[in-house]
Amino acid sequence: MQIEPVQWTFENIGVNEDSSPSELRHLADFLSKKQFDLVINLPMRNGGARRVSNFMTHGYRTRRLAVDYSVPLVTDVKCAKLLVEAMRILGGRAPRMKTHTDCMSSRRMIKLPGFIDVHVHTRDPGANHKEDFASCTAAALAGGITMILAMPNTNPAVVDHQTFALAKERAIAGARCDYALFVGASADNYIITPEIAPLAAGLKMYLNETFTTLRLIDLTIWIKHFQSWPKKYPLCVHAEGQTTAAILLLANLHNRPIHICHVARKEEIQIIAAAKEKGLAVTCEVCPHHLFLCKDDLKRIGEKKGQVRPSLVSKEDQQALWDNLDAIDCFATDHAPHTVQEKTSENAPPGFPGLETILPLLLNAVHEGKLTMEALVDKFYRNPKKIFNIPDQPNTYVEVDLDDEWIIPDAMPFSKAQWTPFAGMKIRGSVHRVVLRGEVAYVEGQVLVNPGFGQDIREIQTKMKHPSIVYAPTIDVNVSRPGSGLDNLLSPNMQDRSGELEEEQLERYNQLLQPVSHKSNVHFASDVDHPKLFGVQRTISPLSFSSSIRHKSDSNLNLHVQSAASSHVSCNLTGHHILSADIFNKDELKEVFHLAETFRNAIRKERMLDHILRGKIMASIFYEASTRTSCSFAAAMERLGGKVIYMDGTTSSVKKGETLEDSVAVMAGYADVVVVRHPEPGAVSRASQHCRKPLINAGDGVGEHPTQALLDIFTIRDEIGTVNGMTITMVGDLKHGRTVHSLARLLTLYNVELRYVSPPGLEMPEHVMNYVSKRGVSQEMFQSLEEALPDTDVLYMTRIQRERFATQEEYRQVCGHFIVTPQLMSRAKRKMVVMHPLPRVFEISTEFDMDPRAAYFRQAENGVYVRMALLAMVLGRF
Ligand SMILES: [Zn+2]
Repeated sequence: MQIEPVQWTFENIGVNEDSSPSELRHLADFLSKKQFDLVINLPMRNGGARRVSNFMTHGYRTRRLAVDYSVPLVTDVKCAKLLVEAMRILGGRAPRMKTHTDCMSSRRMIKLPGFIDVHVHTRDPGANHKEDFASCTAAALAGGITMILAMPNTNPAVVDHQTFALAKERAIAGARCDYALFVGASADNYIITPEIAPLAAGLKMYLNETFTTLRLIDLTIWIKHFQSWPKKYPLCVHAEGQTTAAILLLANLHNRPIHICHVARKEEIQIIAAAKEKGLAVTCEVCPHHLFLCKDDLKRIGEKKGQVRPSLVSKEDQQALWDNLDAIDCFATDHAPHTVQEKTSENAPPGFPGLETILPLLLNAVHEGKLTMEALVDKFYRNPKKIFNIPDQPNTYVEVDLDDEWIIPDAMPFSKAQWTPFAGMKIRGSVHRVVLRGEVAYVEGQVLVNPGFGQDIREIQTKMKHPSIVYAPTIDVNVSRPGSGLDNLLSPNMQDRSGELEEEQLERYNQLLQPVSHKSNVHFASDVDHPKLFGVQRTISPLSFSSSIRHKSDSNLNLHVQSAASSHVSCNLTGHHILSADIFNKDELKEVFHLAETFRNAIRKERMLDHILRGKIMASIFYEASTRTSCSFAAAMERLGGKVIYMDGTTSSVKKGETLEDSVAVMAGYADVVVVRHPEPGAVSRASQHCRKPLINAGDGVGEHPTQALLDIFTIRDEIGTVNGMTITMVGDLKHGRTVHSLARLLTLYNVELRYVSPPGLEMPEHVMNYVSKRGVSQEMFQSLEEALPDTDVLYMTRIQRERFATQEEYRQVCGHFIVTPQLMSRAKRKMVVMHPLPRVFEISTEFDMDPRAAYFRQAENGVYVRMALLAMVLGRF
């Protein structure tokens, strides 16, 4: 190890510590440029605390700077010694990884609410070559936005019942995320707009020149709209420069709240800030292209492409926006896509795409310290929700990766615009996954929900006003409950943070129910007089749901357990045999997985679970050696407080000629649940007919191995975040491998692509292939692993059984083709996993074990949690 001492002394600095010594500035420079990877600074033990100016010491400032610039900091002398010692032992090499922790998910992930973009141009109807509802809402989801408010300057413009219905039709068919539609103010539609008001996102008035036919020039028409549009519904204006002042005055005279779109210039934000100070009912939004771009960027973007309304502003204007962040209520994209061809033509139309880049840009601003995460959530979720009276989206959240560094490419994938003014910007922070109403809508570059999944929030709200119409939530309330698998995905401190967010959300929500506060600088929501509406919403909100159905189970100290009955009456495994993976439907799988996650979490937090099956006995009957399965069943039972009795099929009365049926019947008399493994396919199922206690198949020859298939899918879900959309490649002896048979069948419940790689003669059996193809899942056979590997998300390796080959040479030849090595895996995706039911022989080289993609040991561990869930369920505890 090389050690380079540098001179770093504060001693020559004057006694007056306020004189901001140059060394400290120097230190700040180093830290801000990330020239240090680690700071070790030990606070003074003695005397320090008694000094009045303690917090002003150089040591304190050094530590503070390290924290501010997110440079790792060690402040404890013992930790520092351990670290130095460890570095010495490692000799500069990277430390070994702990493979039992979830490596793929150990990045800094946090959970944020689904964001709301109040200013989006879908171009639908009328200009679908620029964008349509499907592409626009795909872009929204990719950007962590789960709700858009769509602008009315379409073709035809949305100005009356007919055009509103047309736009609505397009939205119903195309939207993947939730939405509401604006109605536009025209020269003569102020008579009918109040009728549309309850169904619309709000009224949009265009007072300046932009890409629309809806511009209103006449002040008398402004006034007519102000008089007719009901005060309780949102009214948004495009008002630049002096128009901002004019409209503020007019709104004040009419005593009505207004929302000012895309504020861009210093004079605009200053007058809004002043108006707010005076107590005027005004809210406003700012777009990312005014916060992160300015006129200087036009050189890079190009004059024509850089056209946007309001235009890109000067550095001074841009700074004024940052200086007045407090006066900004919302961040909104003003997503206004045009094609590259249009943007580079003569008369290039104004407008930028923005849905896919806004959240990463804002996260980057948080990283750079320009914005707090709290302010981001306020301005991109809480305030828009309040201002536009947007209902909760149950079970909706976004997971962001705070550490992902990337450069914005020339075009983002989902918008039809196929260009972005932010190209080339270096970003830290990305959207990992978006869950909308319980469904994974987006994960790692893939949008998983179809057009039509989005809902019109105004329609939901109007329905809720009429008690006769029951709103059936299409959601799985389990997803966001505490203790879900997400806990493991999120680092513990971040998880706590998100819990706070949720509680705060509830708190704010309760505030909404309070009588109108005139002090609030956000007005519309408090003007809405539907106490009943909120009442109805509360009962379906995920927050109240999770708190009402969570309860402490009898003698338990800590574990919060979900009572299955409250959400899934249909799923009841109590008393059932589990013989095949086919018995599960998707809801039941979810139920098993959620319970397994809850158990895993509890165990990791060292919470006791032994009250759950206390007094219960499991009979373990294995006619075939299986250390792994038998041990993990026993571990599962004992974790839950139950006991295990064993019958070894090779040494017991079986030798005296007792049939399997008899053995099972006898053991069922001794125990509450029976677990059986037998070498003969179908034997377990046969024996179950003689078993009056629930029986779980732990593998029957080449037949079924349902618990393995369950834990395999649990692992895929856990490692990648979803099963849908994945390409799963099974490798090895597919003919005799019962794990792959059960897995392939169970995977037909998901939208997956299956690939098979096997030596000649050991292909996937026809009956499995038929089962899979009947259910519409695509299957493809490959000769070589190299060929199948590049698109693979899950590589499922199995053992090739030596005993099935005539000669050792033949066996070696076949095996040689299917070995996972670090070299081979350099051809695979960076984000994928390698699984193996274990034991392995040499299908996976041990060199690969340290790779984050090596999931097989975590997979084996998951077996215990899944079996715990199954045992608890068949014994009627959940
Ligand atoms: Zn706009």
